[in-house]
Amino acid sequence: MFRKIVIANRGEIALRILRACRELGIRTVAVHSTADRQQQHVLLADESVCIGPPAAAESYLNMPAIISAAEVTDAEAIHPGYGFLAENADFAERVEQSGFTFIGPRPETIRLMGDKVSAIRTMQAAGVPCVPGSGGPLGDDAEENLALAQQIGFPVLIKAAAGGGGRGMRVVHSAGHLASAISLTRTEAAAAFGDGTVYMEKYLEKPRHIEFQVLADTHGNVIHLGERDCSIQRRHQKIIEEAPAPGISQQQRDHMGSICIEACQRIGYRGAGTFEFLYENGEFYFIEMNTRVQVEHPVTELITDIDIVTTQIGIAAGEPLALRQEQVEWRGHAIECRINAEDPRNFLPSPGKVTDYHAPGGPGIRMDSHLYNDYVVPPYYDSLIGKLLARGPTRERAIARMASALGELVVDGVATNAPLHRELMQDPAFVAGGTDIHFLEHKLGL
Ligand code: ADP
Repeated sequence: MFRKIVIANRGEIALRILRACRELGIRTVAVHSTADRQQQHVLLADESVCIGPPAAAESYLNMPAIISAAEVTDAEAIHPGYGFLAENADFAERVEQSGFTFIGPRPETIRLMGDKVSAIRTMQAAGVPCVPGSGGPLGDDAEENLALAQQIGFPVLIKAAAGGGGRGMRVVHSAGHLASAISLTRTEAAAAFGDGTVYMEKYLEKPRHIEFQVLADTHGNVIHLGERDCSIQRRHQKIIEEAPAPGISQQQRDHMGSICIEACQRIGYRGAGTFEFLYENGEFYFIEMNTRVQVEHPVTELITDIDIVTTQIGIAAGEPLALRQEQVEWRGHAIECRINAEDPRNFLPSPGKVTDYHAPGGPGIRMDSHLYNDYVVPPYYDSLIGKLLARGPTRERAIARMASALGELVVDGVATNAPLHRELMQDPAFVAGGTDIHFLEHKLGL
């Protein structure tokens, strides 16, 4: 096992990784921007290194600064968390070339899955069901693109191969809008991601977002931990996640899980990963693979009792998985509400000082948050300030526990989306389960 790890992230996930390291007896190095000196994980880490000014481009995305921090502290491995450099193949490569272990998949795998076109091609070849679409980059021939769209059937979605975080996609409902949508998405993608490659997919009208968690070690063992339903979204950003997904049978879980395992074996996957699918009319359609730990990983931890972060670290240290697939058991139901520092009406970020913070407790409640009284939420990063989780023996009881916990949660000084979560826990459609990805925006009148 490693002696010392650099945590190359901030906020709740940095604290989550720090806790995993402590549990494993690993010393920790926190790297932070000048705006984050008072982050809880920085205060708790064995060592800390300031890597730059507040702007992420100069700190949390500053590869040489992070690698130097590993060098000066004599650390052995770097955990990237999610976001920032977590899915940056060049970073993974530079970490390994500098003699450190990158806690994640091999750089080639990250590169393959980071380009959505190559990811879809790889998955198709591995027998994973994908959304009907171009299966490759779109060319400049307008007639050819139109013929393709007609063959797939409108509405279609134009997506950036390098897109991420819900950005870089455009729905096209009719032939007349196709050419301009392709060129707009291309221009935007080139500006935002430095790559103007776009592809076409059938736009599914009322899908759910269901994803499968996998863990793969370096000895050829791969297991899946079942699925999560992440359909409660706004602007393609997940707000509530749960596991298991309502209405998915054990047979479907086993079937899709084994498809994901086979795909991992084919590409020689290593580490934790997530296969994201859209689910409509009983069918799964692969959309992308995330080669890192997900924000929503704790819902799976709560129903399987498997710690995904300590397992990631163990895999990177060369340990074999402790469990075989037959030993994975799912018990009860878990829900996660993402608590964001934002105005609940217009969703604008709400940075500032948290004058009072109280985390809920009680049976089945888990709060992953870096907040404390007088902590100042900086304006420079995303607005996630915590994840409130509730587990119960049934979905109904998990919702009841979540509603109760949301009633106990106190975050004063900044606005949060907790009122929206409180409302959702009482919404008849949410309570019934199985809502599609447009449910929340329709409810909000967007
Ligand atoms: P990102 O990398 O930005 O997260 P994804 O490909 O995972 O991009 O898509 C994000 C979200 O966009 C999905 O969760 C879903 O809400 C929507 N989406 C993506 N592809 C389709 C599609 N073919 N039809 C309908 N909605 C889609």
